Amino acid sequence: MPGLSEFSLIKQYFEKVSTPQSDVLLGIGDDCAIVQADINQQIAISVDTLVEGIHFLPNADPESLGHKSLAVSLSDLAAMGATPTWFTLALTLPEIKESWLAGFAKGLATLAKQHQIALIGGDTTRGPLSITIQVNGFVKTEQALRRNGACPGDDIYVSGTLGDAGAGLKLKQNQLNVQQGKQQQEVFLQQRLDKPTPKIELGRALRGIANSAIDISDGLVADLSHILEKSQVGADIELEALPISSALMDIVSKEQAEQLALYGGDDYELCFTVPPEKQDALKKIKGNYTKIGTTTNEPRKVVFYRDGQQAELIGKGYEHFSIED
Ligand code: ADP
Ligand code: MG
Repeated sequence: MPGLSEFSLIKQYFEKVSTPQSDVLLGIGDDCAIVQADINQQIAISVDTLVEGIHFLPNADPESLGHKSLAVSLSDLAAMGATPTWFTLALTLPEIKESWLAGFAKGLATLAKQHQIALIGGDTTRGPLSITIQVNGFVKTEQALRRNGACPGDDIYVSGTLGDAGAGLKLKQNQLNVQQGKQQQEVFLQQRLDKPTPKIELGRALRGIANSAIDISDGLVADLSHILEKSQVGADIELEALPISSALMDIVSKEQAEQLALYGGDDYELCFTVPPEKQDALKKIKGNYTKIGTTTNEPRKVVFYRDGQQAELIGKGYEHFSIED
C-alpha cells in the first residue's frame, strides 16, 4: 500500500467510481466489502489481469485502459449470460500520477455506470503497471451459458464483426500499409481494440436459447475450439459468412481480413451455438449476429468451406496477432 496521502488520493478517485447499489451493504473503506446475495440466483465470478507491455502497449491512454480493463471482465460475464453486479480492482502502479488516475477512473466509471456494476473494493500496490479486475454477476439458477452444451447440428453464430481489433493492433504497431484518406477506418479499428463493447444484453437474451457460448478474446478459431473441446463436437465453418466490417475491408485485402477474423484476438464478440428448435426464438432477439456454420459429430474437427466447397486455408494460424505472445 502506498503512503497515506497517496492512499487518500486513490480512495478519492475510486470512491467516485463506486455507484451506490442497494445490494452493497458495505463498500470501499473497510477490511472487506459486504454484499447481499440473492437466494434465487447463482453468482458468476471471473478475474482478469492486464499487464503493461504484455496485454497493452506502454503509455496506453489511461481512459481507454480503464474502459478496457473492465470491458474484458464484463465480456466473460456476457459469455455466461450473467447480469453484472459487483467488481473489485487490484491496481499495481509504478507511481501515483493524478492525471493518469483521473483518466483511468473516468474510463472505468463510465462503463461501470452503463452496466450498473458497483466497485466494492480493491487493493493498491507499487510496482510495474498491472490491473486486475474481478467481476461478479447474477445468473438465474442453472441458466448460465457454458462451453460444454453444444450438440451436433447446432448452428454456430458470432456477434458483431471479427478481426477489427487485430487490425487495430497492427495499425498501432505500424504493421499495415494504409493508403491516404482512410483515417476514419483507422480510427474505427483502433477504437475496436481500445474500447471493446461487452455483449452483456445479447448474452442475457441467449439464456434458454443458446446451447453454448464463449467470448472471443483470443480469435474465433482458438475460442471456438474451447467449445468444441468441452462439448465434444466438431464444426463446419463457411468462410464467406464471416462478418467483416466495411472499415476492415477498406484497409486490408480480403485474405488478410479473413485471417484477422479467424485468428486475430481482442474482439470480445460472442460465439454461440443454437439448436434447430430454438432458431425461431433466436430470431426474436435484437442485436447483430451472424450464422457462420454448424456443429458436427466429429469431436474437435474444424472443416472450412468457401461457397459450400471445402477449402484449404493458406497460412492457417501462421500469424498470431495478440501482443500477448
Ligand atoms: P487492507 O489493508 O485491509 O487490505 P487497504 O488499505 O488495502 O486495506 O484498503 C482499504 C480499503 O480501500 C478497502 O476497503 C479496499 O477494498 C479499498 N481499496 C484499496 N485499493 C483500492 C482500489 N484500487 N480500488 C478500490 N478500492 C480499493
Ligand atoms: Mg489491501
